Amino acid sequence: MLIDGEWVRASAGGELRCVDPYTEESWGRVPQADAADVDRAVTAARRAFDRDGWPQTPPARRAALLRRLAQLIESNADALTYQQIRENGKLVSEMRPGADLIARSGHYFAGLAEAAGGRSMGTPGFTTYTVREPIGVIAAVTPWNSPLLLLGWKLFPALAAGNTVVVKPSEVTPTSTLRLAELVVEAGFPRGVVNVVTGCGHPTGAALANHPGVDKIAFTGSTAAGKAMARAAAERCARVSLELGGKSPNIVFADANVSAAVNGVIAGIFAATGQTCVAGSRVLVERRIYGEVADLLVERARELRPGDPLDHATQLGPVASRAQLEKILSYFAIAKEEGLERLTGGRRLERRGFFVEPTVYGSVSNSCRVAREEIFGPVACLIPFEGEDEAVAIANDTPFGLAAGVWTESLRRAHRIVSRLRAGTVWVNNYRQMTYGVPFGGFRQSGIGRELGPQALDEFTEVKSVWIDASAP
Ligand code: NAD
Repeated sequence: MLIDGEWVRASAGGELRCVDPYTEESWGRVPQADAADVDRAVTAARRAFDRDGWPQTPPARRAALLRRLAQLIESNADALTYQQIRENGKLVSEMRPGADLIARSGHYFAGLAEAAGGRSMGTPGFTTYTVREPIGVIAAVTPWNSPLLLLGWKLFPALAAGNTVVVKPSEVTPTSTLRLAELVVEAGFPRGVVNVVTGCGHPTGAALANHPGVDKIAFTGSTAAGKAMARAAAERCARVSLELGGKSPNIVFADANVSAAVNGVIAGIFAATGQTCVAGSRVLVERRIYGEVADLLVERARELRPGDPLDHATQLGPVASRAQLEKILSYFAIAKEEGLERLTGGRRLERRGFFVEPTVYGSVSNSCRVAREEIFGPVACLIPFEGEDEAVAIANDTPFGLAAGVWTESLRRAHRIVSRLRAGTVWVNNYRQMTYGVPFGGFRQSGIGRELGPQALDEFTEVKSVWIDASAP
């Protein structure tokens, strides 16, 4: 682990094993940090913030370090891609462009570091202005599905704004974050500014969330763990931002370009083997075209080619871990109990690796557990509807609100539906587009706060208002 610029083992000697989801073989070990290790990391980050002057470092210097880090990510993109695939089994065709996107995000936040500033206000007799100051020590806790991209979206703005950071990657994907930490050291960030502790949610994540020296928790993960984070933060009014789960509707109207819509539905739920927070897991289809869409979707789902995630021709990778495999299989059993119509899939693939079949359930009621709970696997629920009002009612009938898709050739309808959907991102005639310049986050139980976009640094700063008496003496 990286604590205060040193590479260290866990003080109590605990270790975790890394398992390749494609081969099912254990291939590495990382430290399992306990509360004492977390305390060392937070203490280092505190000193770097409170005494060593990182917040006072000129923005241009912080930007230069971020640009250097982004360049190192660019030149190590293949290695970082390989490391992540070995950990989570995602396809090289998705992860390699993702590595470039991480580097570009670094450059974007370097730009924001130099552009950040406050405002001045008109208050007669006074000169009044605001400044934005860093919050302090940030705990960045990340999941396994896009470990480095999601880390970058916290780490870069946090550093750009002058905070120091303790990162806790998922226990499924710790080694890729440690590789990135090597680049942080190589880029020349002062010691203690970035620290990485590895380990499970308990004890490592919980020790970090509950540490009184942490000023903000920036979390991406499941809604259940996010609520635990928010409870821990509430004890001391620590800041918290949460990027959580979803059960996103992908709505296909009868006037849509059906072939494009089905492509979007496939990408929405089967890309990354369904393991994306924005997975379009509820496919709402207007009844008039329901049969046509269902047939096409099933045909295309059956054609997806499973295989080695490092092979560019593979279309379906394994799921990331045995635990995730078992979770998905448990939902196949629940679907059976609920009497759902299985149009295709619903089983583990008979081959080495944590593979499941791309699965489509038909004529699903939105009240079924399979339609309400986040599965995080390649499982689509087809839900028929009649007209706009019913589509919107079903789409919004969920505790989540992360994303939604709308497929229609009518511009008027697109605007009407967009304004009625309770979701942080709505895609019209596309799905899963994302980049660092556009804010991202969830309504309702999908999260609190927004990452990315021009205001991203706001989430990592406090506003200070300054009043200067300018009246005559
Ligand atoms: P997870 O909640 O199990 O774990 C996320 C992180 O939190 C890990 O580092 C884990 O060790 C830690 N953790 C878990 N329980 C904890 C606890 N009680 N206290 C402290 N730390 C704890 O999530 P996951 O399985 O790694 O990732 C999948 C989830 O992430 C899905 O729900 C997905 O929707 C969500 N996700 C959301 C976004 C988004 O931007 N909204 C992006 C990607 C993934």
